Amino acid sequence: MSKVLVIGGGAAGMMAAYAAAESGHQVTLIEKNEKLGKKVYITGKGRCNVTNACATEDFFNQVVTNKKFLYSALYQFDTDRLMNLLEENGCKLKVERGGRVFPVSDHASDIIGAMKRILNRQKVEIMLLTEVEKLLVKDQEMKGVVLKNGETITADAVIVSTGGLSYETTGSTGDGFKFAKDNKIAVTETVPSLVPLETAEKWCQKLQGLSLKNVALKLLVDGKEKYNGFGEMLFTHFGVSGPLALTASCYYYSAVKQAMKKKKDGTPAEVKLSLDLKPALTAEQLDKRILRDFESEQNKAFKNALNGLYPSKMVPVMIELSGIDPEQKVNLVTREQRQKLVSLTKDLRITVTGTRDFKEAIITQGGVSVKEINPSTMESKKVKGLFFAGEVLDVDAFTGGFNLQIAWSTGYLAGNSIS
Ligand SMILES: Cc1cc2nc3c(=O)[nH]c(=O)nc-3n(C[C@H](O)[C@H](O)[C@H](O)COP(=O)(O)OP(=O)(O)OC[C@H]3O[C@@H](n4cnc5c(N)ncnc54)[C@H](O)[C@@H]3O)c2cc1C
Repeated sequence: MSKVLVIGGGAAGMMAAYAAAESGHQVTLIEKNEKLGKKVYITGKGRCNVTNACATEDFFNQVVTNKKFLYSALYQFDTDRLMNLLEENGCKLKVERGGRVFPVSDHASDIIGAMKRILNRQKVEIMLLTEVEKLLVKDQEMKGVVLKNGETITADAVIVSTGGLSYETTGSTGDGFKFAKDNKIAVTETVPSLVPLETAEKWCQKLQGLSLKNVALKLLVDGKEKYNGFGEMLFTHFGVSGPLALTASCYYYSAVKQAMKKKKDGTPAEVKLSLDLKPALTAEQLDKRILRDFESEQNKAFKNALNGLYPSKMVPVMIELSGIDPEQKVNLVTREQRQKLVSLTKDLRITVTGTRDFKEAIITQGGVSVKEINPSTMESKKVKGLFFAGEVLDVDAFTGGFNLQIAWSTGYLAGNSIS
């Protein structure tokens, strides 16, 4: 039996502590907050989209960074195992649209409740309001940790599951990155991801609060398409948010970096969104539809003829962008003017100036380099007995329950791999 310390009581840490205790070790879970799983409480808008019920092979299509690294973790502790474990421990689950799994109660607290029961049964010692200051490593072997209050706790193995940098009020303040760097373990650049985008155009702000459904969005960096999706988006006071914008943000920093590298002259990359408001219609079909609308209401002013085409909040903006006189009668709108309207509707360009910061990011992209970690055990290749799990690692995925499953799976594998 080894003495195991788990640093961080989020999803990854709770699961790691359970797996290590289940393997027969004496486990202490150290959490600096007053309670376990502070971030889990706010996931899925308080409902906790705890995982995704898709097949494991399909899971990997939803991973943005380092999917191959996750093969062992996800095959060893897959979605089904997580769901069985939670249900056996009193948290009934349901599957919603797109395979998203939630507690039947719609309360994230029920996930924490189940995890607490599991930890208690395995006799995991839980130290709350306890912060780890640094790792104790001697001759590349794990010896224990030093707490912020100066106390030393010895251990044979330590699992670092301290999360990333997003929503720091939940406790994820990047401590694990420091622990890694202190021990010469590489950490890749960290950036906010699944995060709203800031935009330049003033008209975007006029649309604040407008939510669009069934639209298509592309992310273009120096004219090259980096993302193309269909679904919902939202205009805000600073730019755009909602599922499409958040997913597009997963590609923002890597694409900009790649474009800058290519250019070599230091000029900034041009980042644009191309919004298709009518993705179900081709440009020709849309033109015919507009023509039909205009012919049926020949004497209407242009400004009054667009309500069937766009949400009402959008009409003044589209009029302004089209450059067509709002008072012009629709029977006098020329072919060229109509074409302009069609192209604006199918390819409305928005300039992206950046993303919101970590405080608003669902996930951190970047982290402890997977090159430093054995994917079959989650153990550091440099320090014996040191393991990493969860968002602290350089792995991330789209929304839909995938990021939490990565935390559960890597946590389980780390805990289960301690010899
Ligand atoms: C608003 C929001 C909604 C989300 N919704 C979903 C969703 O519905 N589905 C989904 O799959 N994903 C969702 N995510 C992402 C998901 O929550 C994270 O990927 C996941 O919680 C990461 O788990 P973790 O255990 O690795 O890290 P964390 O949950 O960040 O846990 C790390 C823990 O370590 C503790 N800690 C840090 N440093 C120290 C230290 N020095 N000493 C002691 N303790 C320390 C922290 O206090 C914290 O409790 C959401 C994220 C956010 C921000």
